[in-house]
Amino acid sequence: MHVPELTSLLELTQDGLAQLLASWGQPRYRADQIWEWLYRKLAADPAGMTNLPKELRERLIVTTRADPLDLIYQQRSSDGQTIKWLFRLPDGLTIETVLMLYDERRTVCISTQAGCSMGCVFCATGQTGLARNLTSGEIVAQVLAAERRMIAPSDRQPKTDDGIPAVGSRSSSVGRRLTNIVVMGMGEPLANYDRTWAALRRISDPDAFGLGARHTTLSTVGLPQGIRKMADEPLQINLAVSLHAPNDELRTQLVPVNHRYPIAEVMAAVKDYIGRTHRRVTFEYALMNGINDTPALARQLAGLLKGVLCHVNLIPLNPIAESPYQPSSPENAAAFQKILEVNRVPATMRMRRGIDIDAGCGQLRRRVSGGG
Ligand code: SAH
Ligand code: SF4
Repeated sequence: MHVPELTSLLELTQDGLAQLLASWGQPRYRADQIWEWLYRKLAADPAGMTNLPKELRERLIVTTRADPLDLIYQQRSSDGQTIKWLFRLPDGLTIETVLMLYDERRTVCISTQAGCSMGCVFCATGQTGLARNLTSGEIVAQVLAAERRMIAPSDRQPKTDDGIPAVGSRSSSVGRRLTNIVVMGMGEPLANYDRTWAALRRISDPDAFGLGARHTTLSTVGLPQGIRKMADEPLQINLAVSLHAPNDELRTQLVPVNHRYPIAEVMAAVKDYIGRTHRRVTFEYALMNGINDTPALARQLAGLLKGVLCHVNLIPLNPIAESPYQPSSPENAAAFQKILEVNRVPATMRMRRGIDIDAGCGQLRRRVSGGG
């Protein structure tokens, strides 16, 4: 039997939704009402769109999908402040989304691809290869899912209940909106540029979700064309670049795409970006014991970044199973940070929150699917 494809409502622009409704003989204001249900009232199911006529609701239920994400697993850190979800997409692939509730911030970390083709040696996602790009609707849906859990934590309980109280039930976060979005989940966002940006525009659009672009940060492995293209976007989101090593020999070992886009090309694109946007760029540097954390490498990094409008985010590595790469000791990490600061390169150490729940990118999926 032929099963007709469902139209995914989150793939549509506001005009696209209006066109669909017009083709059903519905007036424009019905499209506006549905748009409001999707992005303001966070409806995951057309059955709850109570101001629509019954026949229209039924048509939506039968022919469309309002939420492409099926929650199949949830993990919460022991302090309750980090919640990680594994979602199944309509074609059966799985992706991760993480909600972090601390430092007065309520941040969701979203994925842009199922897997990743970049193969960074320390990254769980990098070990699996790329299955496919996510659609813009699948990217937006992660933000809506997180917001839904913030506002109504008991809604849509996960199928695998871990027995820990609902999100935020022990904190003051319940009923408050997300404050930040980081595009740092699975995948390389600039390798899925158009869909990622379509999603980010929708998220920041005051007529849709309406979260200010300045509260969004996109992290890239360092694709120069994508970085330059970002400089031309009217939307002012923050850029983070995953550097992890100050010279090509070491960086190519850790981040294989460096072979194609060596540090000089990445830095040229970043400087171009800063020149055009006047925005401070973050460099991410995962500290790995005995690999990239020596004082000599700290000095080399300081030399590379001297005078650049930037900030270094040092993150002790979140080790993946059976990996030779391990986090730096706290002493080495502190010494590394000190050398950067003495050389006037601003650097902060980001704590490994949620370490007890495989909070590193791609780690939950690997564990649930038995991959490591
Ligand atoms: N592909 C993009 C965004 C997703 S990864 C990128 O690489 O920037 C988000 C960040 O997590 C990157 O800085 C990445 O290098 C880092 N990361 C990946 N695996 C990690 C691990 N095991 N421990 C610490 N950071 C990790
Ligand atoms: Fe891909 Fe980023 Fe992981 Fe590298 S660190 S494999 S670019 S997701």
